[in-house]
Amino acid sequence: MAVPLMQAVRVGRYVVKQHLTGRKRYPLVLMLEPLFRCNLACAGCGKIDYPAQILNQRLSLQECLDADTEAGAPVIAIAGGEPLLHKEMPQIVKGLIGRKKYVYLCTNGLLLEKKLDDYEPSPFFSWDVHLDGDQLMHDASVCQEGVFERATAAIRLAKSRGFRVSINCTLFDGAVPERVAAFFDEVMAMGVDGIMTAPGYAYERAPDQAHFLNRQKTKQLFRDIFRLGKGKKWRFTQSPLFLNFLAGNENYHCTPWGKPLRTVFGWQRPCYLLGEGYAKTFKELMDDTAWEQYGTGAYEKCADCMVHSGYESTAVMDAVARPWHIAKVALFGPETEKPMVPEISLANQRPAEYGYEEQVQQQMERISTGAKPARGPRVRVNGRPANTVSDVADAAD
Ligand code: SF4
Repeated sequence: MAVPLMQAVRVGRYVVKQHLTGRKRYPLVLMLEPLFRCNLACAGCGKIDYPAQILNQRLSLQECLDADTEAGAPVIAIAGGEPLLHKEMPQIVKGLIGRKKYVYLCTNGLLLEKKLDDYEPSPFFSWDVHLDGDQLMHDASVCQEGVFERATAAIRLAKSRGFRVSINCTLFDGAVPERVAAFFDEVMAMGVDGIMTAPGYAYERAPDQAHFLNRQKTKQLFRDIFRLGKGKKWRFTQSPLFLNFLAGNENYHCTPWGKPLRTVFGWQRPCYLLGEGYAKTFKELMDDTAWEQYGTGAYEKCADCMVHSGYESTAVMDAVARPWHIAKVALFGPETEKPMVPEISLANQRPAEYGYEEQVQQQMERISTGAKPARGPRVRVNGRPANTVSDVADAAD
């Protein structure tokens, strides 16, 4: 199983409990971004062009633990930026595991070999290594040669040391189903425990705006991939119903509160992908966000989104409501031949709003007034910003 049985049982118990207590909105996975700083500059990333003062901000160990206390989700995914640049990361992971939270530590893998000794294998802990396909696909996606080789070497090392390792594979327009299928075969042969896959979200700040998938192309791509995977033993960390959704078989609406995000700015509204404002507390996020204004069909920026941040939670809730349905999809795999379900109408979506510059200005003012001083130096090697594979592998924050 890509997800250990005990984890599935605990998460299932948590979901059922939320339903029984009548809680309308609840988090399934707490997303933590303790820093935006990264040691790569991927073309499809929308989070790396902040000013240095913001990139130098960190969530402290205590702030990460407090975020967990506030949200109470059973699973925590730590992303960024590159989390391994955060010098308190081993303590953050240890603290969260100590609370019996299932922690996925996302990384591009460049620092993994160097930092591996700072972590211990645990049923509550998994590395989640970013790999957007085979060597050519991934190195093109992260705009740097050699990253695939380094990341896969680190995966093999982590597996040999007894760690759980999954990969995080984002697919873009132009992905060839046969190559993706061959890549999934390759990572299974490497011994990874699971694959998490999704289409890239069209971040408005991403340098490359030409290669994001629309929903129709997304569904066709995943259908073609899953057709090639029939009879194979690919292990996915996601719900079978989310995979069925990617293949065009579920008429799901977004559940943005299912994976709330805490960053150095606060609690991001409305979701991991869209930064339309920030709440000071988790309660404020849940109570004061106009959730109905977001999601495909409601908002222009959500039109093409099929990302797990919004739809995996919908799939999990559907599994609780229709257990026979998930059992069938789990047994036979996503449907790849029947007509797809109708697409959500975009006729009444509200137009996109753009507030990035204003948000950055607010954060810069907050930093300059000393409300929360920047933590951690910029990653520099020999007096210049580190931006090559070998630079960052030798550097540590
Ligand atoms: S559809 Fe949902 S998850 Fe996707 S960008 Fe919109 S609010 Fe976020």
